[in-house]
Amino acid sequence: LTGRMMDFPLTLTHFLDRARTYFGQSEIVSRQPDKSLHRYTYADYHRRTSQLAHALTRLGVKPGDRVASLCWNHHQHLELYFGVPCMGAVLHTLNLRLHPNDLAYIARHAEDRVIVVDRSLLPLLEKFIGAVPSVQHVIVIPDDGPAPEGRLDYEALLAREKDSFDFPQLEERSAAMLCYTSGTTGNPKGVLYSHRSIVLHTLAECMTDTLGASESDTLMPVVPMFHAAAWGLPFSCVLTGAKVVFPGPHLDPLSLLDLMASERVTVAAGVPTIWLGILALLDQEPKRWDLSAIRSMVIGGAAAPLAMIEGFLHRHGLIVTHAWGMTELNPVGTLARPRRQHEHLPQAQRLALRATQGYAVPFVEVRHVSDSGQVLPWDGSTMGELEVRGPWVASSYFGGEGSDRFTQDGWFKTGDVVTLDAEGYVRITDRSKDVIKSGGEWISSVALENALMAHPAVLEAAVFAAKDPKWDERPLAAVVFKPGHSASKEELSAHLEQRFARWWLPDDYVFIPQIPRTSTGKFLKTKLREDFGDHLLK
Ligand code: ADP
Repeated sequence: LTGRMMDFPLTLTHFLDRARTYFGQSEIVSRQPDKSLHRYTYADYHRRTSQLAHALTRLGVKPGDRVASLCWNHHQHLELYFGVPCMGAVLHTLNLRLHPNDLAYIARHAEDRVIVVDRSLLPLLEKFIGAVPSVQHVIVIPDDGPAPEGRLDYEALLAREKDSFDFPQLEERSAAMLCYTSGTTGNPKGVLYSHRSIVLHTLAECMTDTLGASESDTLMPVVPMFHAAAWGLPFSCVLTGAKVVFPGPHLDPLSLLDLMASERVTVAAGVPTIWLGILALLDQEPKRWDLSAIRSMVIGGAAAPLAMIEGFLHRHGLIVTHAWGMTELNPVGTLARPRRQHEHLPQAQRLALRATQGYAVPFVEVRHVSDSGQVLPWDGSTMGELEVRGPWVASSYFGGEGSDRFTQDGWFKTGDVVTLDAEGYVRITDRSKDVIKSGGEWISSVALENALMAHPAVLEAAVFAAKDPKWDERPLAAVVFKPGHSASKEELSAHLEQRFARWWLPDDYVFIPQIPRTSTGKFLKTKLREDFGDHLLK
C-alpha cells in the first residue's frame, strides 16, 4: 500500500523562497579585502540572486552547465550557491589554494562553461584559464577594485537585470553542486551533490543534536565555501534565516576574533589549524574580546586535539563541537556530543567523548571492516576502515574514477582507519595512507599527535611513518613549539610514556618552525614523509 502524500520535490528553490518570505530582515555580513564590512538583508539577497539567474541565462547558461566559482567567502559567493543550482545549472567551487596545474585539471574535468572570480584572484585564474577550453565567459567580482577593461563585471551584469526570476520546477535528484576532493593521493575526484542530498543534509545539520542552527543564530563559516560546501553551513543559514558573517580573505586569528566579538557570532566553524591560532591568541589576551554570544565552535576536517577542546572550555568557557565529514558526504557524517547516559560521568570523560569523531548523524550509517572485508565488532579497540552509506553519500565519482571506493553491497570506503565503541562513537586513528605499520602492527599517528599537543610547550605536532631497516616503518614526530617554549626529546618521550606502550613512542623528533599544510589547512604528511622519511636511516 502506497502512502497518499504529495511527492513534493526537495530542492533548494524552497530555501530561497522561504528566506524571502520569512527572513527578509536577517542580515548577511561580508568582510571585504580592505577590511570594511558589507551588509545587506535576505530581501536584498533574494533580489540579487534573481538578477544573477537572469544574467547567467542571458549569457547562455543552460540546465546542467557547470558554473565555477573561484572566490573567498562572501555574499556574492552565497548568491552563486543558490542562483546557479536554482536555475538548474551546477555550481562548481574551485579551491583557490590549489596549484594552477591542479585547477586547470579540475576545471577541464568539470567542463566549466563560466568562471566567476574575485578580482583579487584574477592573477591566479590567468595562470590556468588558457588550459581550460570549455570556458566561454569569465565574470569578475570587483572585490578590491573594478573589473579590468574587457572583462565582464559581476555587479554591472546584475545591475541591468530584473530583480525577480521565475525559478523552474526542478527534479530533486538533479545535480546542484560539484565539489572536488583535494587529491592528496592521485588526481582530485569530483563529487556531484543533488538538490535532494543537500536538502536532506541541511535538515539533519539543523537538528538540535547536530549543529542546531536556528533563526536566532549568527553563523560564521570560516571553513572556505570551496571546501566541501563550507560544510553545508551556507545552506543551513538560508533555510533557517540565521544571520551570516563571512570573513572574506581575512582568516588570521586577530581578524576572526574581532569579527566574532563585533558581530556577536554564536556559531563559528573551521579546521583545527584555524582554532589552534585563535586559542593561542586568546591565551595571550584573554580579556580582549567579548565572546559571550558564542554557543558552539564547530571543528572538523581533521582531528581536534583534546588539549585544544579542554583549553577552550577551561580557560575561556567556550564549547567545541567536533564533527567528522568528507567531501564525498555533503559533508557531515558524525558529530561528537555526550549523550544522556554520560551525564553522570566526570567532566574529563565527557570531554574525552567530545574529542572523538562522535556518532553518526541521522540517515548516515557506519561500519568498519578489516583488510579482507570482514565487518568488525564495535568493541572500542579493533581498528578497521570506516565505511558509510546514506542519502548524502556519493554513489560514484563524477567521471567514473575511483570505482574501487564503492563496495558491491552499497557502502562507500572512506579511507579512514577507526575504532567503533559499543555506544557507536567513532575514533579515527588514521587515514589509511598515514597509518604507521611497525613490524606489521599499526600505530595511530592521531593518538600520538593529540597527546603531544597536550604538552604545555607544544603548539603543533604531526606524527608520521619514517623508513626503518628493522621494523619497516617507525613513528617520527615533527614538533612546533609555542613561542618562547621548548622541551627536550627526553621530556616529550616521558610525557608520551604515561599514555602509550613503549613501542608506540616516536623513535625521534624533528623540531621545525611550521607543519606543512594541505590546501584545506590540514597537516600535509606526504611532505613530511618526503622531507624526513629517511631520517631514521641516517
Ligand atoms: P581532503 O582532506 O582530501 O581535502 P576532505 O576535506 O573531504 O578531503 O577530508 C575528508 C577527510 O578529512 C576524512 O576522510 C578524514 O580523514 C579527515 N577528517 C575530517 N574530519 C575529521 C575529524 N573530525 N577528525 C579526524 N579526521 C577528520
